[in-house]
Amino acid sequence: MKRKTISEETGKTKMDAPANIDGGEHPANPLPNPPETFPPEERPLHEGFMREALAMAQLALDTDETPVGCVFVHNGAVVARGMNATNRTLNGTRHAEFIAIASLLSPTPLPASTSPNDLPQPDPSRPAYTADVLPECDLYVTVEPCVMCASLLRQFGIRKVYFGAANDRFGGTGGVLSIHDCASVDPAYKVSGGWLREEAIMMLRRFYVQENGKAPAPRPKKERVLNLEVEPLVKPTGDNPS
Ligand SMILES: [Zn+2]
Repeated sequence: MKRKTISEETGKTKMDAPANIDGGEHPANPLPNPPETFPPEERPLHEGFMREALAMAQLALDTDETPVGCVFVHNGAVVARGMNATNRTLNGTRHAEFIAIASLLSPTPLPASTSPNDLPQPDPSRPAYTADVLPECDLYVTVEPCVMCASLLRQFGIRKVYFGAANDRFGGTGGVLSIHDCASVDPAYKVSGGWLREEAIMMLRRFYVQENGKAPAPRPKKERVLNLEVEPLVKPTGDNPS
């Protein structure tokens, strides 16, 4: 069975969990180095940082942004946070990873690193980071980096990326392209996917339900029923979500 895309997994008509979001197999496009391949004693550390990334995604959700959040970790501590901000800025490049790196390399934390309404405040105690720190950093991001961000991360020499939900439409670390380890002048980086994946997907679902609620005119019921009727026809035989 082909792995479902995020848009399919966040489908408004299917709030039941597809078979592949509950730790099931991903035979067509397996998640890279999933949590179950890590020793049990190591998992809480990564899950803890992913929870911090999820908190940023929640902040995005609360401000009507597609809920994607991330943190950069250096020497066991979070040194930068980012959340998707494409709606607020009307700028399609303002992905969580770009926001966090801009924040890390800024002399003062950028507003999006904490709350969209906060003004940058000088912090004399804050270390002055340069791009040299990124090869010593790990990224935790709730959704697999897109091809744009995967390339950015490689150019900065990120050490490793841990992500939650796969991004089968735009993913740059195996979801669509493998920007992280394809032939390049920049060193490859390691990737591990599936960390708190269900929570990342549920947050995306909440966003799409929320967005639907803002639609000026609900789609006719007849149309929705039609979609439900068509859906099983595109599924492989034997694919039963229940
Ligand atoms: Zn991106």
